[in-house]
Amino acid sequence: MLDKAVVFSQIDGLRQEMIEALMSLISVPAVAPENGGDGEAQKAKCLVQLLERLGFDKVECYNAPDGRVSCGGRPNVVAYLFGVSDERRLWIVSHLDVVPPGKVDAWTETLPFSSVLCGDRVVGRGSEDNGQSLVSSIFALRALKLLGVKPAFTVGLVFVADEEQGSTYGIQYLLKQQLFKPNDFVVVSDAGNAAGDFIEVAEKSLLWLKLCVMGKQVHGSRPDKGLNAHRIGMDVALALDRLLHEKYSKVDALFDVPNSTFEPTRKECNVEAVNIIPGEDITYFDCRILPVYNLDEVLEDINQLLRYYEEKTRAKITLELLQKQSSPILNSDTDDVVLRLKTAIKHARGIDASVGGVGGGTCAAFFRQQGIHVAVWCTIDGIAHQPNEYARVSSMIADAKVFALLAMG
Ligand SMILES: [Zn+2]
Repeated sequence: MLDKAVVFSQIDGLRQEMIEALMSLISVPAVAPENGGDGEAQKAKCLVQLLERLGFDKVECYNAPDGRVSCGGRPNVVAYLFGVSDERRLWIVSHLDVVPPGKVDAWTETLPFSSVLCGDRVVGRGSEDNGQSLVSSIFALRALKLLGVKPAFTVGLVFVADEEQGSTYGIQYLLKQQLFKPNDFVVVSDAGNAAGDFIEVAEKSLLWLKLCVMGKQVHGSRPDKGLNAHRIGMDVALALDRLLHEKYSKVDALFDVPNSTFEPTRKECNVEAVNIIPGEDITYFDCRILPVYNLDEVLEDINQLLRYYEEKTRAKITLELLQKQSSPILNSDTDDVVLRLKTAIKHARGIDASVGGVGGGTCAAFFRQQGIHVAVWCTIDGIAHQPNEYARVSSMIADAKVFALLAMG
């Protein structure tokens, strides 16, 4: 087998190409239609061109039909480098889509979709989340290809759509295509820490709720004639907040934030003037729930509380489920993919990685639901979804080295 130092210096030599690839991918927005974007098609096109230019053995595109985007589909790209053995495959999963830039004024280093290199950082929307891992996985294999090294197993790089909005058109669609086998190794490269020594093996279950309170809008001076939805909405939100925290209070030290979290987040605008009593109040909750709890039970409790408030206030209260994703725990310290990843990290970086759980939401949950073991790992500072989001070039290169060792078995 080739000395790892040769592989590492090959990867170091690809530094400039990696930076250029990341910057060109950032320049193509891939925002979901829910957030006013046109999906990932343009970005997928650029990616496929890159993959073909770099000489991957096979590149496939799986389009999930979606009438909301102009091309009618959401692309999922899979690129293969064939290995010595095809009995088990190594899959490295990252996502094409990005969240919207937010307030453009807050981007002080560059415009969100025109990236810039500042020292060790490539700044731009989608740089850390998840462009860095797209590029590190691609160039890990590129280095092996240039050296004429066949990976120990066939490696599939998976670039999915729709990760930020629930993965219906992304990994969930791809899992239905039967690409993945239960004994494959799957690494989802979409969570980690700055030291690169944290492997995520569990995620919390997810509930995203939209609470809508309908009262009656009237003049500010005549509350007697209306029904103030804002007051009721605040009451209900606080009651819900208290109920969920009190009832679902277990702690699990495996997780960073060891308890379930229930956060009121988004609040929709109601009336335009101070002297209008609002007839509608809309609040959202982001709940990250420890896997020991059954989501249907949590929802039953929520519905009971809402019915109580409906009776008490005469307002109509509806609950919309924006996302419901239960996330079983499969992995353990002795898991094959975790062990291989730990070994690769140790050999490439000289560090001992530890395992743990997070508040979640990566593609890994969907693999776990199907009983496929998966580890989540990359080296990131953790500034995803923020203005001035960046990826460290040094982390991108360091991760590529770990992926190359994983592929070499
Ligand atoms: Zn991500």
